[in-house]
Amino acid sequence: MSPRLGTGTRPLTRTVPEDTAMARTAPAPAAPTSKRRPALTAADPEIAALVTAEERLQAETLRLIPSENYVSQAVLDASGTVLQNKYSEGYPGRRYYEGQQVIDQVETLAVDRAKALFGVEHANVQPYSGSPANLAVYLAFAEPGDTVMGMALPMGGHLTHGWGVSATGRWFRGVQYGVRHDTGRLDLDEVRDLAREERPKVIFCGGTAVPRTIDFAAFGEIAREVGAVLVADIAHIAGLVAGGAHPSPVPHADVVSTTTHKTLRGPRGAMLMARAEHARALDKAVFPGLQGGPHNQTTAAVAVALREASQPSFRTYAHEVVANARALADELLARGFDLVSGGTDNHLILMDLTPKGVPGKAAAKALDRAGLVVNYNAVPYDPRKPFDPSGIRIGTPSLTSRGLTTAHMPTVADWLDRGVAAARTGDEAALAALRAEVAELMAAHPAPGLPLG
Ligand SMILES: *Cc1c(COP(=O)(O)O)cnc(C)c1O
Repeated sequence: MSPRLGTGTRPLTRTVPEDTAMARTAPAPAAPTSKRRPALTAADPEIAALVTAEERLQAETLRLIPSENYVSQAVLDASGTVLQNKYSEGYPGRRYYEGQQVIDQVETLAVDRAKALFGVEHANVQPYSGSPANLAVYLAFAEPGDTVMGMALPMGGHLTHGWGVSATGRWFRGVQYGVRHDTGRLDLDEVRDLAREERPKVIFCGGTAVPRTIDFAAFGEIAREVGAVLVADIAHIAGLVAGGAHPSPVPHADVVSTTTHKTLRGPRGAMLMARAEHARALDKAVFPGLQGGPHNQTTAAVAVALREASQPSFRTYAHEVVANARALADELLARGFDLVSGGTDNHLILMDLTPKGVPGKAAAKALDRAGLVVNYNAVPYDPRKPFDPSGIRIGTPSLTSRGLTTAHMPTVADWLDRGVAAARTGDEAALAALRAEVAELMAAHPAPGLPLG
């Protein structure tokens, strides 16, 4: 099997819509932080106070949404710079604007670090976010009306993998695979049969609610057999891949798409990576195909995050994220929770709350009042509607960034259990008590950029 995407300069096979309605118990409006943000506080006290309130909310709650994280102070610093002021349509060395002496160096550093970290020949760091990055892939490799294949949204796939309400499902013929009813896991025989039948031009693998290791090698074989471009969307697991806690798609996929702000712990942004032969098509699709000027302050922060992700401490982080998720899954199973696929291999846990007698949305809202921030989520074959589904989705990237370890997971599982029980009985006092307990532990585990205690 020949490598499809990269030269693998690193040993790559080493094992290697969320409802954000405000909590009813909103944090007390904080005093304006005139010391930390004097200009903002003077110019716009309303926004300054809201930023401070968000800091407090992030500080006091246990953030369990698997797509969220805490970036470092260095990433925050790079994001808020005068790089913001610069237009730089084009790519380093071939721009449509002058004055790129510095910006070219920033983007080149980000690109080089992405290439080194993931072992790829080409990286484009300009996509504004994960969804535009995926749109660029379609623009590079498909024509409107072409058949594309991805995991169905209610099975754990992403909107941009050809789901109907997305432009990708409206402008392309999206055929969708799912997971098995009995195991909650992907059935690669089903994927292969569907690919043979439908002959998609592009196949997406990866997703937003997939708690199990993705078999990139098997997807690679299927894509090669039917002549499809294989896109590995590692938005959720990029940090695990970079840190060696999930196998890399690089030897198997034609294109790797990722966000930079989930487990990779960078600013909100995205990257597309590929073998050199696809460089031109992808670059042209991002600019001028889809976007205008890149967000240079974000590019700088991406570069910082990539540097951080290449440190030994990030490898430790990635493995701890997985260890925490596995420990939390075991503790939840012991408390009678029904986990989709029976557990997790990565940073994410999807649970069906039907046996607990409370729908996902009601549980998520009650848990939010208890300072346990999750999102309600459909489970595979969910009999309930997407806006009021049966499950919730949680993950460990954020809590691991705050230094929680496997020793804390019995406590976290206990909180979730008590929170869900209180949601069922409508016990607001129990939720308020939980919130105080959560805040106490979180005060002992500060995060970058957040006020202490
Ligand atoms: C989060 C995510 C995206 C989209 O990223 P945005 O930055 O929210 O547009 C795409 N694909 C997958 C698998 C994701 O998890």
